[in-house]
Amino acid sequence: MNEQDRPHVVVIGGGPAGLIAAEVAATGGARVTLYEAKASVGRKLLVAGRGGLNLTHGEDIETFVTRYRSEGVEAHWWAQCLAEFSPSMLRNWAAGLGIETFEQRTGRVYPREMKAAPLLRRWVARLREQGVVFCMKHRWRGIERVGSSHRWRLQFEVETGGSEVEADAVIFAMGGASWSITGSDGRWRETMESLGVKVTPWQSANCGWEVEWSTEMLAVEGKPIKNAMASVGAEKVKGELMVTRYGIEGGIIYQLGPALRSMAEPMLTIDLKPDATAEQLREKMAFCSSDLCSSDLLNSAVKRWRLGEAATALFREKARDMGVIRVEELVRLVKAVGVRLKNSRPVEEAISSAGGISWQELAPDLSLQQWPGVFAAGEMVDWEAPTGGYLMQGCFAMGQRAARSALAFCGMQRSIELSPWEKY
Ligand SMILES: Cc1cc2nc3c(=O)[nH]c(=O)nc-3n(C[C@H](O)[C@H](O)[C@H](O)COP(=O)(O)OP(=O)(O)OC[C@H]3O[C@@H](n4cnc5c(N)ncnc54)[C@H](O)[C@@H]3O)c2cc1C
Repeated sequence: MNEQDRPHVVVIGGGPAGLIAAEVAATGGARVTLYEAKASVGRKLLVAGRGGLNLTHGEDIETFVTRYRSEGVEAHWWAQCLAEFSPSMLRNWAAGLGIETFEQRTGRVYPREMKAAPLLRRWVARLREQGVVFCMKHRWRGIERVGSSHRWRLQFEVETGGSEVEADAVIFAMGGASWSITGSDGRWRETMESLGVKVTPWQSANCGWEVEWSTEMLAVEGKPIKNAMASVGAEKVKGELMVTRYGIEGGIIYQLGPALRSMAEPMLTIDLKPDATAEQLREKMAFCSSDLCSSDLLNSAVKRWRLGEAATALFREKARDMGVIRVEELVRLVKAVGVRLKNSRPVEEAISSAGGISWQELAPDLSLQQWPGVFAAGEMVDWEAPTGGYLMQGCFAMGQRAARSALAFCGMQRSIELSPWEKY
């Protein structure tokens, strides 16, 4: 097939979802052009690289699938999508770029170098070799059908005014609404809504929560509460919390975000000694004299239960609010310290955003129901997952599915069997 006869697939957005979509579409034989609003691609990927770039997670796939929350799409959809581009395929794919990965004790998977820049550089170079054409500083502005055909005309805003291109299939991968400096500013939302596509409102996901701390708590700002178990209703997560000037940060609270967001008055309950039973804690206090005053009893509990600095500040504050204290009350308190939260931090600061194109608009192959041949992938779709590599993995898996679907739409059925990353 000569160059101009090959179907033209346009990918919009140069994050992980868009880049992998471009790679799959190009490997499958399409002519691919990737449009990006910023002057370079993968800016959020580079930001993620500051934390080492947690690409995926090594836990079993049955548990992995349960990490995804998405209103309107079942867990088996995620199971299928992740089977097409699994965590081990993602590691193989990185190896194909010469990026070796390793699994931490926690199960999190990172490039050995703990950097994103080498991966991104090699990836973009390989995409260019595969014939992908990059058009930077092109902000998507609109889409319309070309006459009564199955082709699409796309409009972009460029420095000099406007630009248009025609495509046989389109893959939108314009990201969510956090860290707008990276280009993921969610401004595409207004255009989509004006064209009749339902977009669920943005919410902060994987973010800190605000607490009205006392001066005593502010004195431990930046200190962790280690080895705690936090719960919201029946949901419990063990790990570390960080006391910040405005409230609480950390993996635990990120994971409990969806449960907290569903509460009118969000409340976190923290077990500061999750590995000890109430009986064991009582035993440790057994030799305390019964006529100890409240403050001595409190000092004794902090010491005997080996509470860390931030945990001690929180425990003391709550105990002080209780007035007269007995051992039994302290045991109950250390196992369930209640912290009232005000609200989540703004979406701009969050690691990811919930909300985006509603699943009602999408078919299982990620095509937009009202626009045949137009697909959406990555964080711009309404789903969320905790930190741990699930976000990146989800974007990769969705990007490849959207690209395979685009190839199938263009009549390149053969490409459905394609799994380039399996060969590495
Ligand atoms: C601080 C931080 C650390 C993170 N660390 C991790 C981690 O370690 N592991 C993990 O799994 N996830 C991590 N994430 C989340 C992860 O980076 C994102 O989930 C992922 O990048 C989303 O990929 P995407 O391709 O959907 O969108 P994005 O990466 O957001 O890319 C979207 C692209 O579309 C472009 N765009 C937007 N609008 C337009 C338009 N109108 N026209 C053209 N182009 C447009 C943007 O400029 C951008 O380049 C982190 C996020 C942050 C903020």
